[in-house]
Amino acid sequence: MNRPYNFSAGPAAMPTEVLQQAAIEIMDWQGSGMGVMEMSHRGKEFMSIIAQAEADLRELLAVPEHFRVLFMQGGGLAENAIVPLNLSRGGLADFVVTGSWSQKSFKEASKYCLPHLAASNEADAHTTLPAPGSWQLSANAQYVHLCSNETIHGVEVHELPDLKALGSDAPLVIDFSSHVASRSVDWSRVGLAFGGAQKNLGPAGLTLVVVREDLLGHALSICPSAFDYKTVADNGSMYNTPPTYAIYMAGLTFQWLKRQREGSLSAVAAMEHRNTAKADLLYGFIDQSQLYLNKVAKDCRSRMNIPFFLRDETRNDAFLAGAKARGLLQLKGHKSVGGMRASLYNAMPLAGVQALVAYMREFEQTQA
Ligand SMILES: *Cc1c(COP(=O)(O)O)cnc(C)c1O
Repeated sequence: MNRPYNFSAGPAAMPTEVLQQAAIEIMDWQGSGMGVMEMSHRGKEFMSIIAQAEADLRELLAVPEHFRVLFMQGGGLAENAIVPLNLSRGGLADFVVTGSWSQKSFKEASKYCLPHLAASNEADAHTTLPAPGSWQLSANAQYVHLCSNETIHGVEVHELPDLKALGSDAPLVIDFSSHVASRSVDWSRVGLAFGGAQKNLGPAGLTLVVVREDLLGHALSICPSAFDYKTVADNGSMYNTPPTYAIYMAGLTFQWLKRQREGSLSAVAAMEHRNTAKADLLYGFIDQSQLYLNKVAKDCRSRMNIPFFLRDETRNDAFLAGAKARGLLQLKGHKSVGGMRASLYNAMPLAGVQALVAYMREFEQTQA
């Protein structure tokens, strides 16, 4: 089925095949007589759905045995509280601020622990990444927080830092909401990764947490039971009712991802390859153009979220209207940054980026 190309930053486009399968199964999941929304989370049908989703995710992201996968609720913003509630022990935590999302994490943490600003790119208007060697890491931090892809500013950490090599024993916590499953994760450098599903995995309502086992069981006494990672882990993400339909949709997306394998490349490696090609196409076009501008330093440009500006901002509305007329949707930039933003998640095919670039070229020519 041909649909418009949807560049939303989130909730974002999902693979058409996934939506079609969900449509087929909406009233009767595999002959059970029930839709997934209508089943008990403790019944054998849903138990098989969540088990398959976890197994597929572990395979896709090569999650090691000593990490637990938790299906939670509350989104990335709730994790800004849940992480310090579970990991900080009320002590120090280091924050690397690289854009709006890590800025929010840093602020929220002060309710639960002593956040320390280890590095910031605010002076560069969040368009660079402070080199890990320059981070002022604390000797006794309980964890180091890093947003590995800043969805609003379009800044991505292409190689996760090795904190041990930087003299820190603290676990690295990454907010990978907006690039999870777009590339592989080096778990040897990560203690905990969290992300809302609505960017690259499925619908809103599901929050994925992947946490190293030794970090469980240290929650502050004020931590809500439903947000205590150990309680969630001990109950197989069923301490409270999990977001069953969102887990099912994410599970269908994992199955779709597994079908994207190419030759000797794993599914995620194949996605990374395609995501790089998609991003290179758009950045390459923007950089040679006289009308469009991306302000992020080349070594930390996001492959998922590409903010760009028209040098003549009076043309913004005309640009968006023309895009919409050609089936190129949701290109308006975040209100805090302005301009445009194209999000190129896994579900965006190369053809969508080609269509966008063709439109941008045509629009630029009509301005001349
Ligand atoms: C979208 C996003 C969030 C916030 O997610 P919510 O589900 O709205 O809480 C946090 N971090 C990053 C990197 C995001 O892209």
